[in-house]
Amino acid sequence: MQSRREADVVVLGAGPAGLVLGNLLQGGGIDCVVLERAGRAHVQGRARAGFLAANTVRILERHGLDEGLRTRGRAHSTCEFRSADGRFRLDYSGLGRGERHTVYPQQDLVTDLLTRFLELGGRVDFGVEALAVLDADTDRPSVSVREADGRPVRWHARYVAGCDGRHGAARRSLPVGSVRRHHRDHGVTWLGLLAEAPPSLDAVGYATHERGFAGHMARTSEVTRYYVQCERGTPADDWSEDRIWEELELRMRGDVYGPLHRGRVVQRAVVDLESDVLEPLRHGSLFLVGDAAGLISPSAAKGANLAVLEAEILAGALIDDLVHDDSAGLDAYSARCLAYIWRAQEFSHWMIRLLHGASGSDGPALFDNSLRRARITSLRTSRSQQDWFAEHYVGV
Ligand code: FAD
Repeated sequence: MQSRREADVVVLGAGPAGLVLGNLLQGGGIDCVVLERAGRAHVQGRARAGFLAANTVRILERHGLDEGLRTRGRAHSTCEFRSADGRFRLDYSGLGRGERHTVYPQQDLVTDLLTRFLELGGRVDFGVEALAVLDADTDRPSVSVREADGRPVRWHARYVAGCDGRHGAARRSLPVGSVRRHHRDHGVTWLGLLAEAPPSLDAVGYATHERGFAGHMARTSEVTRYYVQCERGTPADDWSEDRIWEELELRMRGDVYGPLHRGRVVQRAVVDLESDVLEPLRHGSLFLVGDAAGLISPSAAKGANLAVLEAEILAGALIDDLVHDDSAGLDAYSARCLAYIWRAQEFSHWMIRLLHGASGSDGPALFDNSLRRARITSLRTSRSQQDWFAEHYVGV
C-alpha cells in the first residue's frame, strides 16, 4: 500500500541545482522536500565541476551560502593555450568585465549546501528514486517514488522542480510532443581524469595537438583534473596510467614547457561532448532546472554555474507565487533561463571548435584545422577578441 506525503514544492535531485533551490525556498519559508536517488556519501563525494563564475559566487554570497568557498576557494584568472605554433597566456581578470573564477570543487560546494539546508531545518530524503511526475498539467501534481527500502510512495505538491539531471524522472515524465528537444552530439569524446598530483601550471591549460586535445585544470594544491581527447567508445579503463601520462605529456608539450607533475589517477570517466536543451522549461506545475533543463558540454565549464543561476531564478519566482500570489516570475522562468542557456551553449560550442581539430589530412580536415589555427591566432593577437573571450569565459 502506498503512503501519502505532501509539500508545497517537491525538488527532485540533490545536486547544485536542487540544493541551491532547496536552501532558497527553505530560507523563504516555503515547505519543501528534496528527494535524492543516491546516498549522502555518494552525493558529497562526486567530483565534477570546479570553476565557479563570478556571478555564481555573487548568488551564493547573496544568500549566505558562500562561507566554504570564501575560506577555501581560490581566485583564478589565467589560461594558457599551447599548440604547434607556441604558447600564450590570457589573464582574463584584466580583460572583458575584469572578472575571475573561484576554484572550488563541486563536491565541497554540494557538501556546504547540504549542511546549510539541514541547519535551516530542510528535509532531504536520500536513497529515494523518483519514478515519474504525474498530473503536471494540473495544480496538484505528484511524484511517484521508490523509497530506500523499496516501498512505493506518492508525494503530492503544488509544484515540482526537476533538478535530477539529464536522465532523471522529470525529463522522462514530459508528455511526448509537449517540449522541443535540441540535441547536438559534438562528435568529440574526452577521458576525464582526476589525479592525486599538484597542478603542473598556475593556469588552466588547453593544448591542441595533432593527436587530439589535452586539458589541465587545478582543483586543489594536491588534486588536478586532466582531460585527454580519446576515440568515441573508449572504455574508461582502457588506458593504463603510463599511457595517460605519456599522452598528456606529449600533447601538452612537456618536453618544451616543463614536465607534468604526475600522481595516481583516482577517478576516470568518459564524457561524450553533447548539448541537450529542452524548450520550454515548464510543463504546467513542473519546472526543469540545471542539467535537466539543458545539458552543456564541459568544454567551457558552464553546467554547474547555469544550475545555480536557474535555481535562484526559480526560487524567487516560486516564493513570489506561493507567498505573494504573483505568478509573473513563473510565467517568465522558461524564456529567461533559455536566454542564458543559449548564450552559454554558443560559447561552449565556440570552445569546442577552438580546441578540437578534424582528424585526417584530406581537404575538409585541412580546411577545418586551418580555421582553428586562425581562431587561436585571433585570440592571441586581437584585444577585442580577448575581451569577448574573457566576458563569456567567466560569465553566465
Ligand atoms: P547533478 O549535479 O547531476 O545532480 C542531479 C541529482 O539528481 C544527482 O544527485 C542525482 O543522483 C539525482 N537524481 C537523478 N535521477 C534521480 C531520480 N530519478 N530521483 C531522485 N534523484 C535523482 N560545470 C561547471 O560549471 N564547471 C566545471 O568545471 C564543470 N566540470 C565538469 C566536469 C565533468 C567531468 C562533468 C561530468 C561535468 C562538469 N560540469 C562542470 C558540469 C556540472 O557538473 C553539472 O552541470 C552540474 O552537476 C549540474 O547540476 P545539477 O544539479 O543540475 O545536476
